[in-house]
Amino acid sequence: MKKFMKIAALTLAAVMMLACFAGCGKTDTTDKVYKIASDNAFPPFEYLDAATNTYVGVDMDILAAIAADQGFKYEVANVGFDAALGQVQAGQADAVIAGMTIKPEREEIFDFSVGYFEDGQIMVVAADSDIDSMEDLAGKVVATKAGTMGLEYAEANKDKYGYTTTMFEGSVEMYQAVAQGSCVACFEDRAVIGTAIQNGEVNLKTVGEVINPAPYGFAVKKGTNAELIEMFNKGLENIKANGKYDEILAKYGM
Ligand code: GLN
Repeated sequence: MKKFMKIAALTLAAVMMLACFAGCGKTDTTDKVYKIASDNAFPPFEYLDAATNTYVGVDMDILAAIAADQGFKYEVANVGFDAALGQVQAGQADAVIAGMTIKPEREEIFDFSVGYFEDGQIMVVAADSDIDSMEDLAGKVVATKAGTMGLEYAEANKDKYGYTTTMFEGSVEMYQAVAQGSCVACFEDRAVIGTAIQNGEVNLKTVGEVINPAPYGFAVKKGTNAELIEMFNKGLENIKANGKYDEILAKYGM
């Protein structure tokens, strides 16, 4: 009887181990809920829709369409741009989609998908401003947004043109500083400031040409979540082929 119990126990243990081997691999790909971090006020890419109290936009819709196509689950935390990049670097989020420009310095710490949109920055001033060149910024204060290409551009040129900078957390605060006059200009992604101006949300205008046009990418911390990048790339290809991608861009006036 004792011997029988021992065999039964061993058999049960073996069955449980096998079940785990069979199930564990599966759990990773089908039950995992990827944590995606994003910006919170960056229309038309991600912004709070007041009517539904949910975050909508090109990035949100592309992510939803790709996840549906590839069959993965995810949740989004719209924490702001700099915070989103920080969360991915800290391993608190699996990936970021936030109108994030692919550039060499970022490729040292992030792995990017293929590009899914292209844009650059443009100078933004108050609607009634006389400023129309970098030279006009001498002795003035330029508003910047934490962690962005616009910040990098403003910092890289401030000694040459003789202005100083003040940094803000988000696009909304940055625009306000320019509209209210505590700063005379900022550098924002062209499609984003274009949308804000078109929607009549800001009393601002753009000056000059687009700076450094480059692709936006979905990104993970370097060396992690390779399967997620692979699914994003495959899904993007599929939604481009079936018309969903064009439909999303058109929905947001892009
Ligand atoms: N495209 C810009 C960047 O990558 C701005 C992104 C953003 O503000 N969400 O820095």
